[in-house]
Amino acid sequence: MGYDEIAYHFIIADNGDIYEGRSINVMGAHAGQTEEANELADSIRKGLVDKPLVEALKKDPDFGSIGICLDGNFEFEKTSSTQLKSLSLLLQRLVEKYNIKKDKIILHKDVRKKIIENNGLTPIGEATKCPGKHSYEAIMSIVHSL
Ligand SMILES: [Zn+2]
Repeated sequence: MGYDEIAYHFIIADNGDIYEGRSINVMGAHAGQTEEANELADSIRKGLVDKPLVEALKKDPDFGSIGICLDGNFEFEKTSSTQLKSLSLLLQRLVEKYNIKKDKIILHKDVRKKIIENNGLTPIGEATKCPGKHSYEAIMSIVHSL
């Protein structure tokens, strides 16, 4: 897709194996983009605005987030129980290590409203159905049980 590297920080295969993707120290490319982030980044790169590039990145929903991908298309299939178990273990570790509050764990389709629009930013592109109708409730119940 033209990215520098895999977009996510973690990927969970349907057999439950957890793969480390992009380094956790590097901003991901998984949550969408905003017009404001891209326009400010362009202006900074062209020298029209004298700000550090991080000011543009702060307007991107990926900034400061950890991206976890579950392999599959859950509009058509269910997440496997081993995949969900691995997700639960991974989330427990990340919540503990980075002191993440449960309400900060957001599924992809909810990013648009909760992170982008609620912060007065403008999303780019179509809304996503991700993670899909056959996994949304199962994943949210894991988040609630953390
Ligand atoms: Zn997604």
